[in-house]
Amino acid sequence: MIASGEEDRGDTMSMLELRRVSKVHGQGAAEVHALREVSLDVDPGTMVAVMGPSGSGKSTLLTIAGSLEEPTSGQVLVAGQDLATMSRNDKARLRRQSIGYVFQDFNLLPGLTAAENVALPLELDGVGARRAREAGLRALDGLGLADRASNYPDQLSGGERQRVAIARAVVGDRHLLLADEPSGALDSANAEAVMRMIRTACKRGIAAVVVTHDAQLASRADRVVHIRDGRIVDQTVPAPGPDSLLGQDR
Ligand code: ADP
Ligand code: MG
Repeated sequence: MIASGEEDRGDTMSMLELRRVSKVHGQGAAEVHALREVSLDVDPGTMVAVMGPSGSGKSTLLTIAGSLEEPTSGQVLVAGQDLATMSRNDKARLRRQSIGYVFQDFNLLPGLTAAENVALPLELDGVGARRAREAGLRALDGLGLADRASNYPDQLSGGERQRVAIARAVVGDRHLLLADEPSGALDSANAEAVMRMIRTACKRGIAAVVVTHDAQLASRADRVVHIRDGRIVDQTVPAPGPDSLLGQDR
């Protein structure tokens, strides 16, 4: 499904593209301009960090990118497809199969093991239990969590729970990861591990958009987008940090 080479569009297709997206909540005097003509391109294998004060539109950007909300104007393309031209069913399938979400508060089901939590989106999508379980284990393994597969959420640390939530968000053939302050509830060591996992997913070709308050974590992204009052005010490529001097992965 990842577009490279499938059609002859060259190698420039973004996994996510926002074109002058605006979002207005409410009407008349109660109007809130949550996003104002936001344009953003995220290529496969790329991690974009989004920073900005509370109320600046970060969550709105993610929900619109994930087709959970429609823009008031502008276009949203996922893997080259304009969401406005897709049926409700097609969008539902896109959300089930291609887009992974990670929220601040983990959202794991307490009665399921780590592996079962990760396999769940596939099972809900009709994949057989055994294949879903195998894919779940692969996702956990790929993110260094194989030894936690049989643990229940209350047998995991907060950081491990969030990492399982990331495995669940990238399981199967997903290629767009949207994370809303995924490290907000974690201490710095765990937050760091979460960022590392998102990078690992990117190395396998996933495009990620990650909202964070932490400049240090944002510096691990390929690009940092600063948003204020619904507008992108700055986009920066972080300078190489101490990690790269140590020869580690960013
Ligand atoms: P952030 O995630 O950066 O804190 P949000 O995207 O949640 O910002 O919100 C941006 C602005 O839009 C805020 O002023 C917020 O109050 C408003 N907003 C968000 N969702 C709604 C909604 N469903 N109805 C009305 N206003 C909303
Ligand atoms: Mg928010």
